[in-house]
Amino acid sequence: MFVMRHWRTGLFGDSLLRAVCRSVHHSRARQFSEPLYQQIVNVRNNKYKFKCHPYATYDAFKCWNCQTVLDIRPCLFCKNCSIIQSSEDQNLNYFELFNIHVQYDIDTVQLTSNFRKLQNLMHPDRFSNKTEEEQLLSESFSSLLNKSYTTLLNPLLRGLYMLKLGGLSIEEDSITMDSTFLYEIMDWNEKVEEVDTKESLERLKKDVDDMLVVLYKELSKAFSENNQNQAKVLLSKAKFFTTLLEKIKDKDVL
Ligand SMILES: [Zn+2]
Repeated sequence: MFVMRHWRTGLFGDSLLRAVCRSVHHSRARQFSEPLYQQIVNVRNNKYKFKCHPYATYDAFKCWNCQTVLDIRPCLFCKNCSIIQSSEDQNLNYFELFNIHVQYDIDTVQLTSNFRKLQNLMHPDRFSNKTEEEQLLSESFSSLLNKSYTTLLNPLLRGLYMLKLGGLSIEEDSITMDSTFLYEIMDWNEKVEEVDTKESLERLKKDVDDMLVVLYKELSKAFSENNQNQAKVLLSKAKFFTTLLEKIKDKDVL
């Protein structure tokens, strides 16, 4: 099986694995259909105590309305009473929410299709005649779906989120940038300051776009090789160029 092979060969780093496992919190997993999830369940051994929902005070995930144990992730509705479930109680990571594997290269067409289906099912308009609690759960689910979709669709945000799943961020001081890149930063900033025609602005924008394409390719390689330090450096660079692109777009020239 694809996932199993890569699992064994270390596509997912220990820290990422631990983070994913933390989000998987109950033992009744036999009905899960996702291969990745099956692998996670096999290595998971910590029990998770719910703390988000007032009804959720037990180890297993149960329907807040009828207490039936629910063993599908993500669980949208109770299989017994059909009531909407809480996204917070399930502590879903964004990939899990859309039923896609935790990896940098994702099928964005599939992501968009999954997002639309889920958003259609959970949209608050569908719950306008339901109880206040159900309406709140639908709003919360819907907002998580929007946030997750926006994050996973964007190559920079997706990379930052994957770092976060591994317990890392680019805000830490531990990133060592090569001095060449620090000079490059000054150089690029100067170019943006000095640009004074629409044509040169367009050229500069294309150059930055091209830089980002290269960086995201390298980032994909870094994640697939589980090189988190390299991913951090590349994401810092990608963040710089994304900000630079915004500056270019905001710049008015005659
Ligand atoms: Zn129920």
